Amino acid sequence: MRPLHLDLKGIIPSGKKFLKWLNWFRTRGFDALVLEYDCRVPWEVWKGAGSPLLTKNAVKRLVGYAERLGFEVIPLIQIHGHLEWILKNRRYGFLRENGNLNELCPCHAESFTRMSQWIDEVAELHPHAEKIHLGGDETWHLGSCPRCGKAMENDPAQRGRMGLFLDHAAALCRYAWEEKHLRPMLWDDMFCSAASLPSPAAFPEETVFVHWKYGGEVTDRLDLIRAAGFEVWGASAIRCAWRGHHWKALNPIGERLENIANWEKTGLPVLHTTWGRPNNLWNLYGPWEALIPEFTAAGSPEKWSVHPWRSFARRLDAALLHDKREALKTLADEALSLPGADAVEEEAKNWFHLGIRYELLHQESLDLLQTRRCLSVLNRYGCRDRTRTADYDALSRECRRKTELWARDLLDFWRRNELSDAAEYLDTRLAGIYGCVARKNPERSGFSSAE
Ligand SMILES: [Zn+2]
Repeated sequence: MRPLHLDLKGIIPSGKKFLKWLNWFRTRGFDALVLEYDCRVPWEVWKGAGSPLLTKNAVKRLVGYAERLGFEVIPLIQIHGHLEWILKNRRYGFLRENGNLNELCPCHAESFTRMSQWIDEVAELHPHAEKIHLGGDETWHLGSCPRCGKAMENDPAQRGRMGLFLDHAAALCRYAWEEKHLRPMLWDDMFCSAASLPSPAAFPEETVFVHWKYGGEVTDRLDLIRAAGFEVWGASAIRCAWRGHHWKALNPIGERLENIANWEKTGLPVLHTTWGRPNNLWNLYGPWEALIPEFTAAGSPEKWSVHPWRSFARRLDAALLHDKREALKTLADEALSLPGADAVEEEAKNWFHLGIRYELLHQESLDLLQTRRCLSVLNRYGCRDRTRTADYDALSRECRRKTELWARDLLDFWRRNELSDAAEYLDTRLAGIYGCVARKNPERSGFSSAE
């Protein structure tokens, strides 16, 4: 089994282009899709929250198409942590754990009711689904509100914070299985970060635990959960946070390929995760076109082992990580002349070209910032050289001109590929170029070219 996770809170293509991507993912060897809906669907139970881009009919079309292509489709919603998109709204503030925007209070009387209603809504959209992923990772504030404090005190088994997590998550896993006949799946980090594994006996035996590890030794804590007797999957990251992700356009590829290859060696079913934002209160990553090497390596390791872009990917990483400007200039041209096996790869070449140009503009603008500061200090010491100032002004104008050209090409790319969130993505990248001011458009936008 080769499952692919797509985090839809990131940049997504229009419905029409999404179908093309599904075809492409199938040709790359994936046979199951875990769709993390988050804020992108207008859920009845969370009225007024989120920035929906997919109607329920659009979801049904996508899911039906994917199933006809041979994918098993597994919907993913979060039932405890990472609910920023809901809890940041004042009208749902009453559900926050001790005022935190990311986490639900598991002891609030409405928590189970709302979450089970949400499971009902999701199940209705997926009449053929066999599984549902209920998230459950990174509930860092567990047990911090007075209500939860009291529940811990009154727990006859004195299980502490983990008792709260187990009761809430297990009750919803049982609901999914017993009422909806959906095998529940859960991230396992809350179990594996504990000093000893709390008993997961309250979960239905059909529960699948997913052990995500995006770097280093991937199986070092896996035996904790495996020993409990449940089905266990691993999880790699095709994309997750990297240094400077809030303004950079290109992510390092090598560390992702290494993580994917390390999971491949385990022989376990591996869910390859493709994150769209770190969370709903942080920045967008790039479009899926940026991830062709990683998608290929995860779906078809044998295809990646002979892929003609391997050397390019390696040299691009080296140039990005060590700020090699001349190498980047060469690679920007080389990106456009790479062999493209299909339409998706052809667009990915354009993306790498744009990403490298952006990296060069960032570096150039920082040089100009330093020069401006030095000229200003020199002026105070009587070193006024009009020629030098004129040179600086000309270079600044040239940098602005290239930035405008880059922004225009980026928007062309967005329109051609019918991608969401053009304004937010462009503005946050321009923030990485010194001297640029983000345009005044604070609204999260939808597709630049609507479906
Ligand atoms: Zn609480």
